[in-house]
Amino acid sequence: MAAKAVRATQRVRAPRIGFASLGCAKALVDSERILTTLRAEGYQIDPSYEQADLVIVNTCGFIGPAIDESLDAIQEALEHNGRVIVTGCLGARPERIRERHPRVLEVTGPHDYAAVLSAVHKHLPPRHDPFLDLVPPQGIRLTPRHYAYLKISEGCNNSCSFCIIPALRGRLASRRIDQVLREAEQLVTAGVKELLVISQDTSAYGVDLRYASAPWRDRVYQTRLTDLAEALGSLGAWVRLHYVYPYPHVDELIPLMAEGRVLPYLDIPFQHGSSAVLRRMRRPAHAEDVLARIAQWRRLCPDLTLRSTFIVGFPGETEAQFTELLQWLRAAELDRVGCFKYSPVEGAAANELGAHVPPAVQAERYERFMECAAEISAARLRRRIGTRVRVLVDTVNTKGAVARSAAEAPEIDGVVRIAGPTRVQPGDWMDVEVLDSDVYDLHARAVNPGP
Ligand code: SF4
Repeated sequence: MAAKAVRATQRVRAPRIGFASLGCAKALVDSERILTTLRAEGYQIDPSYEQADLVIVNTCGFIGPAIDESLDAIQEALEHNGRVIVTGCLGARPERIRERHPRVLEVTGPHDYAAVLSAVHKHLPPRHDPFLDLVPPQGIRLTPRHYAYLKISEGCNNSCSFCIIPALRGRLASRRIDQVLREAEQLVTAGVKELLVISQDTSAYGVDLRYASAPWRDRVYQTRLTDLAEALGSLGAWVRLHYVYPYPHVDELIPLMAEGRVLPYLDIPFQHGSSAVLRRMRRPAHAEDVLARIAQWRRLCPDLTLRSTFIVGFPGETEAQFTELLQWLRAAELDRVGCFKYSPVEGAAANELGAHVPPAVQAERYERFMECAAEISAARLRRRIGTRVRVLVDTVNTKGAVARSAAEAPEIDGVVRIAGPTRVQPGDWMDVEVLDSDVYDLHARAVNPGP
């Protein structure tokens, strides 16, 4: 035994990789895939850049500040390690990276896993070691154990004028439904309690595959969103849908939500409430129709939570159009809202629209928008006082637990705070009674303190 132990410690040190993941949940899923493959090949993932043999930086290139953040992250990796491979959205513009950081070893584009891996193999060849090649069945994940992002497609067929994602990530490429369902099944088997469905455009899922059919368990499903929601709903986990573009067939999801098969939660990036601005954004422009649909959805599913994001200060946005947006927001009474000030991205068609809104006006509109959204959020949360809800615990400390109900997505929405010592663990379910609310969070007490 002793000899074996000595031999084990004398094995050649595994190649170590440092990793930085920037950007959205979709980029996070890319990072997880890269890390899972590297780990399977025997690489160790090292939290410190100094100890690593090489660092991979997965960048974001969505808007100006994200590009700056990515370039700074590359600089930090170069300073602390010196051997850096860059991938992700900004990797689609290698000249931008090399101009500021000529020392990077390689630059690969978004969701090109093969290119990242071959760059790693070239600069840091793998060493096979069966002791290091073990990967948990759910792969390496960057989210807590109890929830996971499920990426159903890459790319996008839309051409929103403020966005260069289609140029960076290409046209829609959906994963066939049986592949997605098998991954979801594995995640749930490994302990995941909440599946967060993501893509660039979740509603368009399967269009590129002409809704190809595939068997899963005892049925044949089509590669389309309604079938996916129905099948995922049978796994016994929470299923939350993100980035749903407001196509008409989204209406088909509402009955599934009303029946409790998927969470009554829709994340739809509406972007604006003025039809004129929406037209310039090249988004579906029927703002009033959307209000009527929201009302209908809420009639069919009164517990529905609606989350959205908006852009203020879009080129040419007049004060009247901004006021229209605020009125639309008040009429829609969205539960959760995020807001960005328009920021020109190199290559975006919106840059050519002219009449850019001055930064001071953008900032003032942003403040007014957030005030309005905060009032709506506070009012909608107040209505939940006195209700009993099931929550999933995210974190626990000596002061209590922080959890989320069906109405709160992780990382982007408010939370449910449960004060007082508790024996629950992250990933446990709890039943709570809502006692109070503030602008974004609920305060509750356990009615069933868990195991
Ligand atoms: S739907 Fe529009 S904003 Fe979203 S990725 Fe596609 S082009 Fe960009």
